[in-house]
Amino acid sequence: MKNENCIFCKIANGEIPSKTLYEDEEFRVILDLGPATKGHALILPKNHFANLYELPDETAAKVMRLAKKMAGTMTEKLGCDGFNLVQNNGECAGQTVFHFHMHLIPRYEGDGQKIGWKPGEPTQEELEEIRKQIL
Ligand code: 5GP
Ligand code: ZN
Repeated sequence: MKNENCIFCKIANGEIPSKTLYEDEEFRVILDLGPATKGHALILPKNHFANLYELPDETAAKVMRLAKKMAGTMTEKLGCDGFNLVQNNGECAGQTVFHFHMHLIPRYEGDGQKIGWKPGEPTQEELEEIRKQIL
C-alpha cells in the first residue's frame, strides 16, 4: 500500500534518505526538516494512509504506543521540559503532507514556540447543542 507520488512513502520506505531515529517493519521515525524545536520528529507508517480517517485501528494503536516510547527516550536524551504530540488532518487543520504522520515535538522552557488556539466562550446551551450533534 504505497503511493508512487507520495514523498513520505519514499522516505518511510528508505527510497529517500532521512535522519532516522527509529525503524521497524511498519514505521520509521525521522527528524522533521523544518523543526518547531530541537528534536522535532515525525512518526511515519510505511504504508500509505492519507490521514487519521484512513488509518486502520490497529495501526492507530501502534502509533500511540510508539509515540509514548519515543517521547520517553527523547525527553531523557534531549533533556526537554515538556512534549507535544500533534497530528493534523486536512488542509484547514494545517496538514501539508497527505500521508498520515504524528509530530513529536520536544518543548523547552522559553522556546518561544506556540502550539495552541484562541479559546472560545460558548454558553452551556451551545455546548449542549454540540454535544447532541456529536452523539
Ligand atoms: P503537516 O503540516 O502535514 O502536519 O506536517 C508536515 C511536516 O513535514 C512539516 O513539519 C514539514 O517540515 C515536514 N516535512 C515536509 N517535507 C519533508 C521532508 O522531505 N523531509 C522531512 N524530514 N520533513 C519534511
Ligand atoms: Zn504515502
